[in-house]
Amino acid sequence: MVEEAELKIQNLTKFYMLVLLKSNDSVTGYFILKKLAKDLGKTASPTYVYDFLKDLKSQGYVEDVPTSKTSKRSQGFQLTPQGHEFVDKIFNRFNNLIEVAIQAKLEICASCGVSLYDNYYSEKIGKQTLNFCCKHCAKAYKETLNKE
Ligand SMILES: [Zn+2]
Repeated sequence: MVEEAELKIQNLTKFYMLVLLKSNDSVTGYFILKKLAKDLGKTASPTYVYDFLKDLKSQGYVEDVPTSKTSKRSQGFQLTPQGHEFVDKIFNRFNNLIEVAIQAKLEICASCGVSLYDNYYSEKIGKQTLNFCCKHCAKAYKETLNKE
């Protein structure tokens, strides 16, 4: 059998690195390590991150961002057009999986049931703190309580 030449994305660290590459104009290895620690609570080794970036580069999926002469900041990486195609393909494949994962983690508004992202409104009602998408939903929720 012929081994597929395609890069294998077999874990969340690699997958999240693709997310970061896709959602930023350019990223540095340092930025990736910081985000992995902050968002996934994962301490990836710099070697692991840089090896994967090297693999992506050898496939022609990422390229170095030209550093400006005035800046001493470390060089970043950006996706090439082929890289964007590759990431889109991976994302499509994982799309359903991600939706399930996101939904499992998301809070919903206690009143209307919409998913809550970063900005939502919490209010202590009775003994528990409930989350709502907005103040109006909290008010509507309290009104239904009073009717009971
Ligand atoms: Zn709501």
